[in-house]
Amino acid sequence: MSKPILLITGGGRGIGAATAKRAAEQGYHVVINYKTDATSANKVVADIVASGDLADCVQADISDVEQVAQMFSFIRKKWGKIQALVNNAGVLEHQMRFTDTTPARWQRIFQTNVFGTMQCCQEAFQDMAISRGGQGGAIVNVSSLASVYGSPNEYVDYAASKGAVDSFSKGFALEVAGDGIRVNVVRPGLIYTDMHADGGEAERVDRIGPTLPLQRGGKPEEVAEAILWLLSDKSSYSTGGFIDVGGGR
Ligand code: NAP
Repeated sequence: MSKPILLITGGGRGIGAATAKRAAEQGYHVVINYKTDATSANKVVADIVASGDLADCVQADISDVEQVAQMFSFIRKKWGKIQALVNNAGVLEHQMRFTDTTPARWQRIFQTNVFGTMQCCQEAFQDMAISRGGQGGAIVNVSSLASVYGSPNEYVDYAASKGAVDSFSKGFALEVAGDGIRVNVVRPGLIYTDMHADGGEAERVDRIGPTLPLQRGGKPEEVAEAILWLLSDKSSYSTGGFIDVGGGR
């Protein structure tokens, strides 16, 4: 029997790469999407294949409507319909007060974090919906605890985009539940990845981690565990739900 196909957006590093490795071990055919860093994505694929599991990668900028459509069409032709999707790709920009940010910056952040996620969900629906000849499926959208606390003085626009992901995921989950598709959200807190360097403070997790109830930052693998559980049949009665992986933040 062929393995279920799992597409992970932004799977070349960080939380996406940790999820890809764990998912491959658990029997998925993992398709890793990346935007710019082909070397890292290919390395994740090579590591998985070297372990005897199945993975491929596909380049597409999920903030680009045409590229998302082409990516899904390519995957369908090459490997078939996807049964699982992790909308993990996300971006932030340099830390600053919201009053100093620009509409162009808000557009860039929302185009990837919100509209990219929404379009991938729409495409996945075509593959998964029982009413479209699919077999159902599971989607996990990676949001952030920033959606809850608002990220003042650092990333208010990013936090707002994750708030939109939360609301979208709830509504979409309730719409497609009757089509055999479960949609859930994982909201990481402070996790050791390169995203913080992109925001201008590579040591951010070390700075804030000790102030959290669990007194440390999290590992990408700890987020991957929650994602994998929500993708699996072990969470068969969960949809429209949220798991916070933030050390008590
Ligand atoms: P990361 O290390 O910065 O990795 C992000 C990945 O997303 C990169 O591999 C990047 O691909 C990809 N990506 C960015 N824009 C893309 C686009 N337009 N199309 C396709 N791929 C794109 O991030 P991370 O920390 O693992 O975060 C993963 C998710 O968790 C994000 O949604 C983030 O908002 C969320 N999150 C992270 C934290 C944290 O503390 N790290 C906390 C809360 C939430 P390329 O390298 O190829 O460009």
